[in-house]
Amino acid sequence: MSHLLDLQKFYPGDIEITNKHETPDRIIVQLKSRTKSQKCPSCGCESNQYHSTYKRKIVDLPILGKSVLLLVTAYKYDCNNPDCDQKVFAEELDGFAGWYRRKTERLEDLILTIALNTSCEGCSRICKYMGIDVSGDTIIRLFIKYAEKQDVSCSEIIGVDDWAYKKGQKYGTLICDGRTHKPVAILDGRDGSELKKWLQNNKHIKMITRDRASAYAKAISEVLPDAMQIADRFHLHQNLLKVIKDTLSREIPNKIMIPDESSNNEIEPRLLIEQNKKKRADR
Ligand SMILES: [Zn+2]
Repeated sequence: MSHLLDLQKFYPGDIEITNKHETPDRIIVQLKSRTKSQKCPSCGCESNQYHSTYKRKIVDLPILGKSVLLLVTAYKYDCNNPDCDQKVFAEELDGFAGWYRRKTERLEDLILTIALNTSCEGCSRICKYMGIDVSGDTIIRLFIKYAEKQDVSCSEIIGVDDWAYKKGQKYGTLICDGRTHKPVAILDGRDGSELKKWLQNNKHIKMITRDRASAYAKAISEVLPDAMQIADRFHLHQNLLKVIKDTLSREIPNKIMIPDESSNNEIEPRLLIEQNKKKRADR
């Protein structure tokens, strides 16, 4: 039984390690695709006609604190379907590193897991310590790509609220499923225009909880006039507190005077307390 670590086992069977070497701060693994055929991303037809090869640089999970760079030689295929506009396409390392991705999917999973348990900026700092160079903004983009990749259908109840990419500068709109409480879409901006587009493709929605901003209310009324719009609990509390505060300030005078038994006059509560304090101290 061999006690040597077989690095090849950590890579898909159709990507073969051809070389590996180490520098003071990173491990470089050279790989070559051994795929025999691929499906065209445009028409879905299978092709076994190689067109050419191309090089990809992909960052993988670090090993013992050293970053790992993969230099992958992958294929481009010809699409044989005469009706397809795409004549040549690059192969996808499906389940390992998608098209045009610079990180392996397992590395992206690790980054997103850390970010979910800390924050995007916190995750960026932890990753730097682990030898992974990724900024907080890149992590947000990873989340957005991840959300877009999901084929998420939602129930007829949703919640809509805005959130800040960067407070005071850039905002987005988050849509959550009211039954599963899971996010179903992240949209750019909070002016309601992207929400309108999203609602047009989701006309089965019947109930929407939202904040008090008029942009969302207007977008919903225009696309789904029959949908019930509900102010969410946080904003209901805010409304209630505002009404209580307004009522109290209207009904209760600014200055409350209390009868002073010793002088048959009225006196401010603050002065009365001070007066009583003094009396007790004199006793
Ligand atoms: Zn095609």
